[in-house]
Amino acid sequence: METEAADQRAEPADDVTLDDVVSLCKRRGFIFQSSEIYGGLGSTYDYGHYGVLLKNNVKDEWWRAMIGERDDIVALDSAILQHPRTWEASGHLEGFTDPLIDCRACKMRFRADNLEDSSCGRKPSKRPGDTDACDLTDARQFNLMFETHMGAVRDDASAVYLRPETAQGIFVNFKNVLQFARRKPPFGIAQVGKSFRNEITPQNFIFRTREFEQMEMEFFVAPDEAERWFDYWLGERRRWYDELGIRPDHLRLRPHPTDELSHYSTATSDIEYLFPIGWSELEGIANRGDFDLRQHSEFSGEKLEYFDQQSGERYVPHVIEPAAGADRATLAFLVDAYDAEEVEGRQRTVLRLHPRLAPVKVAVLPLVSKEGMPERARALYEQLRRRLRAEYDEGGSIGKRYRRQDEIGTPWGVTVDGQTADDDTVTLRDRDSLEQVRVPIDGLADELVARLEAPWRSPKLEAG
Ligand code: ATP
Repeated sequence: METEAADQRAEPADDVTLDDVVSLCKRRGFIFQSSEIYGGLGSTYDYGHYGVLLKNNVKDEWWRAMIGERDDIVALDSAILQHPRTWEASGHLEGFTDPLIDCRACKMRFRADNLEDSSCGRKPSKRPGDTDACDLTDARQFNLMFETHMGAVRDDASAVYLRPETAQGIFVNFKNVLQFARRKPPFGIAQVGKSFRNEITPQNFIFRTREFEQMEMEFFVAPDEAERWFDYWLGERRRWYDELGIRPDHLRLRPHPTDELSHYSTATSDIEYLFPIGWSELEGIANRGDFDLRQHSEFSGEKLEYFDQQSGERYVPHVIEPAAGADRATLAFLVDAYDAEEVEGRQRTVLRLHPRLAPVKVAVLPLVSKEGMPERARALYEQLRRRLRAEYDEGGSIGKRYRRQDEIGTPWGVTVDGQTADDDTVTLRDRDSLEQVRVPIDGLADELVARLEAPWRSPKLEAG
């Protein structure tokens, strides 16, 4: 596995910009600014139809890797609001902070550890503190947890927090899972759900937002096996992105140096992707030791340990945590898939998504809206949609409809034309090669499902 030091300013290897992806997402209704009619709300985004389907596919693939293809992990969906003691025990109340600097002149806020890469409110843009007019405060610690109040009485006793990570909901359920799912180490608990962080500088579209979805798994192991499992999960998680078609030269593993490790961690590595903004974290994999279970034992008074009846051994399991972001992964898949090319003198924008991630797998199109073609196409669509996500589209010229499907990343297009009525065949168009072949309707669903299940490589690799 390739490992390199972080360099946020590294030049991207291709010319896809974040703006390209943002405008495609808006144009095709994947993702857009939230509360748009009110002028938007800072860094919150809404997912439209294709965005929902794409992100669901990302999450489904994660579940497939966690529980579909193995049997040592169980699923959990814990509440977003948890007992406030959870965050005392985890250290979030005390330490989940970023250093914050305000500018009294332009009223903007900056992360003190990120001033070099920030620009202030002035035009042309300057770095905070660069001009005499800047009036910066000293840095102070700012807690990133969103606080709200439970119940009708608004006092300190009723303060609760929107969870800043899904992991703690897993630790506080350790005993339940041990008992009810009858598991013993090594085993994992996996959870997907919303987390909230009052980030000082949310930016770069859905890369860093204040409300986002995480996909986290805590894997509980015997203490002397922790290192081995840490290495194992590094490999597994890297493989997940590889298999879903992310170009290998756009992925790397970055081990954290000791001074960057969280207080609970003995080793952490980030899987980074070469976003248009440079190499940035996609997923963190941490060896959390026994920190969390010990803390929750101490604060709750419940024993959170494992007793091995066979060996008579009692121990607090150590935890290996792969923590990924569903939105950030979705952005990486979109960036990696985005392509623009010229075909027969016309510009074509295409999302070369892995077919398993594509929001729609097959579009069924009547060549023209007459001679019984719409009826036949609609019937075929209804047949295909039982097996895989399909879409029927009869509006506009066939070229326009293909272009629309290319932009949402649909890997296959099926066109019903005049010949279909004679011999029950259709043309099958491939999104990437643009090859069109004549195939019988009989067996088409099987053929598409077989293609969907086949290994896949990004065609961008072939193009060099
Ligand atoms: P960063 O350094 O980017 O703030 P982190 O190291 O704090 O991230 P973790 O706490 O390890 O992040 O969370 C695991 C994953 O959750 C991250 O790798 C990322 O994919 C996702 N994530 C974290 N914060 C955000 C956010 N504000 N917006 C979108 N995704 C996020």
